[in-house]
Amino acid sequence: MEQLELDFSKSVPQETRLFTRKSKKRRELLRPRGRHHDLSGIFGRLNRSFFGNTVKVDVTWGKESKNRKRSIQLGVFDRDSNIIRIHPLLDRDFVPEDVVEMVLYHEMLHAYLGADVVRGRRMVHTKRFREAEKAHPYYSAYVEWEKKHLTRLLRGW
Ligand SMILES: [Zn+2]
Repeated sequence: MEQLELDFSKSVPQETRLFTRKSKKRRELLRPRGRHHDLSGIFGRLNRSFFGNTVKVDVTWGKESKNRKRSIQLGVFDRDSNIIRIHPLLDRDFVPEDVVEMVLYHEMLHAYLGADVVRGRRMVHTKRFREAEKAHPYYSAYVEWEKKHLTRLLRGW
């Protein structure tokens, strides 16, 4: 989600990172079924309900990192490998499925809308993007949840 992505990368803005990353040659092992949340099921529902089944990407839980960070990226769409990765900290029983759904929805919007060029810069969090994001019925609840639980998430629970 936006503020997290911006915090995550201190030197290079997220929008730049998304489009300059070199292609990964190795095939990534996908692990959409977590301990508590199955990303394939959520992805399928979202794709049917909001995108007319047109989003063709792979989804996976990201790898656990041992390092504690001051900020994390809850989701990322890697355009080169065409994979959406969701942070494994969200694969907890007390993280509502709606929250996982909103993070995944955000990344699917990136895959669906792509980037607009504004004054020579590629922009991904455009007005169109923000409006589409807010159109999801869970959006407000998600923002509230994130405010309450973000610190806890960052501590690794
Ligand atoms: Zn984003």
